[in-house]
Amino acid sequence: MASSSLLPPAARRLEGKVALVTGGASGIGESTVRLLCRHGARVVVADIQDDKGEALCRELGGPAVATYVHCDVTDESLVGDAVDAAVASYGTLDIAFSNAGIAGSSKPSILETTKEDFERVVAVNLTGMFLVTKHAARVMIPARRGSIVITASAASVMGGLGLYAYTSTKHALVGLCKEAAAELGQHGVRVNSVSPFFLATEMTRKGFGGEDAALEAAVEAMGNLKGVRLKAEDIAEAVLYLASDEAKYVSGHNLVVDGGFTVARTPPR
Ligand code: NAD
Repeated sequence: MASSSLLPPAARRLEGKVALVTGGASGIGESTVRLLCRHGARVVVADIQDDKGEALCRELGGPAVATYVHCDVTDESLVGDAVDAAVASYGTLDIAFSNAGIAGSSKPSILETTKEDFERVVAVNLTGMFLVTKHAARVMIPARRGSIVITASAASVMGGLGLYAYTSTKHALVGLCKEAAAELGQHGVRVNSVSPFFLATEMTRKGFGGEDAALEAAVEAMGNLKGVRLKAEDIAEAVLYLASDEAKYVSGHNLVVDGGFTVARTPPR
């Protein structure tokens, strides 16, 4: 990594730490990889977009700082290999950001939602996140320390998106986070989730035919907090907090980063 992009030592919150980021080649994962590296962490970037992931790691400074591994999170042996790559490359694993996810097809009715599409989203968003949590735990339990952060979504606390599989998996991830936080806390390992509101990334761009202007306008119009546009970098800051020692007593928490959108829609009692 170009040393100019490193923060001064006193400001680096992850000096000496080792992180794994799944879905790290793009969007929220990519922004988080960049921020973790700025804060002194060495990072294994795991994704299925090999060209993008490798280019990112090269840009950040190569294997001394960031290593790319091909990892489809639905394949347990590849997930295990990605975790082992962190230990082999950098000696340990302190942070696992389980982030790879897909939206699936948007359908206004359950009657149009196919079993195949539902199962495809479950495989990546839920089974994949389970596998990353499990294999991170395999290394963190004997080390008696670590922080696992799972990317859920504002869809973990609301419905009505026309994304049956997506919303179901994101609610389920809050359960995965609670189970893992309860067990792994006994071993000094923290587990939290982060729940972003709608923001512009490759995933959401697909739903807008790649049209950035239409997507930005939709994000702006939908948001509750006017005058502020949520970016992937803002989610990376939330992940940094949960991953860092500043959050040393925070576990089992779902950090919703939605500008108040979901609370603003809670019906009056
Ligand atoms: P993105 O498409 O930019 O990034 C997702 C990354 O995951 C990509 O690099 C993709 O190649 C990778 N990926 C997909 N399937 C994979 C697999 N099977 N194995 C490994 N990697 C895989 O989208 P993003 O918005 O950055 O999404 C990241 C996470 O954030 C997802 O879990 C998504 O559900 C969540 N999220 C996104 C938004 C949003 O509005 N963008 C909102 C809430 C939550």
